[in-house]
Amino acid sequence: MHFPAIIEAKRDGRALSREEIEAFVSGFTRGDIPDYQASALAMAIYFQGMDAAETAHLTRAMLHSGDSFTYPDCSPPKVDKHSTGGIGDKTSLVLAPLLACDDLWIPMISGRGLGITGGTLDKLESIPGFNVRLSMDQALDQLATIGVVMAGQSETLCPADKKLYALRDVTGTVPSQPLIVASIMSKKLAESLDSLVLDVKFGSGAFMKNREDAVSLADAMTSVGEKMGVRTAALLNPMDQPLGHAVGNALEVVEAIDTLRGGGPEDLVTLCLDLATEIATVDRDQLAAWLADGTAWKKFVALVQSQGGNPAVLDDFASVHPAPVIRDLPAPRSGLLEKMDAETIGRTALTLGAGRHQADDAVDFTVGFDRVLKTGVQVAKNEPLLRIHARSENDADTAASALLTAVSIA
Ligand code: URA
Repeated sequence: MHFPAIIEAKRDGRALSREEIEAFVSGFTRGDIPDYQASALAMAIYFQGMDAAETAHLTRAMLHSGDSFTYPDCSPPKVDKHSTGGIGDKTSLVLAPLLACDDLWIPMISGRGLGITGGTLDKLESIPGFNVRLSMDQALDQLATIGVVMAGQSETLCPADKKLYALRDVTGTVPSQPLIVASIMSKKLAESLDSLVLDVKFGSGAFMKNREDAVSLADAMTSVGEKMGVRTAALLNPMDQPLGHAVGNALEVVEAIDTLRGGGPEDLVTLCLDLATEIATVDRDQLAAWLADGTAWKKFVALVQSQGGNPAVLDDFASVHPAPVIRDLPAPRSGLLEKMDAETIGRTALTLGAGRHQADDAVDFTVGFDRVLKTGVQVAKNEPLLRIHARSENDADTAASALLTAVSIA
């Protein structure tokens, strides 16, 4: 196939055929199509978009660029959730073990944090010894034993996405709905799921800044999922303030542990139950009972142990990664706390070292914020709005100044 003609067709707004899309994905994965041509096509897609049929063809072609999970006969239904990412979003750490208390398998393939949103793999790696690099056979063995796996994308799972995402990241072509849909859904479909629930965020701390765009993304992902035979539900959730009270890798694990032990912030517990109810075989009351009675906690401990983590540290996880400087951010005045802007808080956590600027940067597990107040409460002057965990006094000062721009008190 003459590849420049495909680029020209998309540049001029023509819908690409299934054959053209498959030729691009297989040629690019094999290395026959150079990065400059793939980048040109990604940019053409960014400007011209793709219709539902093209998006489904692209998703399918990326899915078939590598391996998919194959399960033994008569194994339980496979379910998972995907979040489009937010600030303080540690939902996966609670949801995966919670769902595994049901008669389900959860083969959760997650990502690392990039930009202002955190990633599940980074949070898990703050648990000493926790191994997120599992082979397909190791993952299947663990599913058969405890029903849940939390790991990263292997070299052989959707290699086309791995290559294309790296290119999009440096060519200004990440925020394209069809490319996002194909990237996310190809990885989720490679898990060979029966049901998937999507947590689509909108607001200042989310990829999608307004509800309308989030609805469109949710519809596009749901339509691809259903076309490919996976029951797919989507919930839209606001992301204007951080989820829960903690932002930062180890600090979020502390909050997830608290939630798995029957405590945890109300918004996090509600979100976990909302999402789990969409794909569990049991009702919300039973799911809540598994959080309250220690069943979900035991499953999490088993997961940590099975993936090489040290379960002994979980009981007092707050003491595992102490930041050198921990200090309060006092409220500058008394009044109603109207805003705790998620985007600014996420960006400040990134600056402290909790996130990465480039894909191979290391993250600092210790830094971030906890005791973050929720909006809608009255605060008194000098009352702590949150607690900063930083590497130095200087970093804490810089963070404090930035954070005050995130806060609005009326
Ligand atoms: N997450 C992904 O995996 N891919 C995208 O394109 C965007 C977010």
